[in-house]
Amino acid sequence: MLPEIIKLLQLQDRDLLLKNLQKDLKEVPSLQQRAKLQLSGDQASVDAALLASREIEVRIKNVELDIQTRQTSIKRLNDQQFETRKNDEFQALGHEIQRYQNEVRKHEDAELELMEELDAAKKVLQAAQAKLAETQKNVDDDLAQLVLRGAILEKRVAETKDERATLAAPIEPETLDLYDRLLKSKGGTAIVPLSNGICGGCHMKVVHSTIQNLKQAEAITQCEMCGRIVYLVE
Ligand SMILES: [Zn+2]
Repeated sequence: MLPEIIKLLQLQDRDLLLKNLQKDLKEVPSLQQRAKLQLSGDQASVDAALLASREIEVRIKNVELDIQTRQTSIKRLNDQQFETRKNDEFQALGHEIQRYQNEVRKHEDAELELMEELDAAKKVLQAAQAKLAETQKNVDDDLAQLVLRGAILEKRVAETKDERATLAAPIEPETLDLYDRLLKSKGGTAIVPLSNGICGGCHMKVVHSTIQNLKQAEAITQCEMCGRIVYLVE
């Protein structure tokens, strides 16, 4: 086998590795994005639970205001009642006070029910927050892992590029140029084995003269069908 072939095979090995490393590296940002997406569902649950509690709190405040207004009215009516000398006016005021007191009681009952609703809503909120915190922890772990993975891949890409440069340096520029062109046009396989007269790249049977050339092992030989550099495997 030509010494050049051995060098090209080593080079192709690095190029294949480089291609895989770069592919893995390219996937890192989308994996980070996917990890972050896990949070959105849990965050939405927390937001909804928070909104529900706040709505109940607003309703409680409104009921409390209603009660306060009526209590102010009751106080005013009581004062009027105290000051009046007329019996029928005293009684009319008494009826009105009674009416307001009934309303206050109704509102107090409603407030109690709302308080219970608020308790339940707060429990839902706490559960949603706990779930979000747990997911956040997992996502943070995943993101840290991915940062590490990206750094390792970048380091390996740099190392492999260095190795490739060292391997490529002693190869004839003409051969290297042919190899580079084939690597690009033939999907990463520029040099392939030829076994039983069949090209390992295009799987076609090559002509006898190609095999003769290879047996003489004097020059770089290409498959006449696909153009890839071939080497003999007995
Ligand atoms: Zn071929």
